[in-house]
Amino acid sequence: MTIMLNVTIPCNVKVKLDNFMDHFKGFEKISIIREIFGDNTEKVLSELKVEFCHFRRGFMWICDDDGHLVVSICYLKRGNKRDIYLDVIHELVHVRQFMEGKELYDDNIDYVKRPTEIECLRRTF
Ligand SMILES: [Zn+2]
Repeated sequence: MTIMLNVTIPCNVKVKLDNFMDHFKGFEKISIIREIFGDNTEKVLSELKVEFCHFRRGFMWICDDDGHLVVSICYLKRGNKRDIYLDVIHELVHVRQFMEGKELYDDNIDYVKRPTEIECLRRTF
């Protein structure tokens, strides 16, 4: 994907909580992201925090306490760059849903049937 040439994704980071835009660069210019956040794109991404962690299970997800992005360091190191890129976009859809007060992890609904997941899949593919 040529569009990937315009973004920077970290591959070697330490455990920490930091600004999303210090590590994931160029996402604010992607049209899908601008569709998700509209005029607030820069503001939302500049306020978003990313936590790099050592969990080996799971790749990346949104913390449902405060809506920050959590990313596995292993995944960044070993994962396929295109998958990581699509996952970041997927999780950014959840960031917006979280801001709208939606329930991200409703265990009463199957993962594949959750409206929040369906919206992510519709936007990334
Ligand atoms: Zn999801």
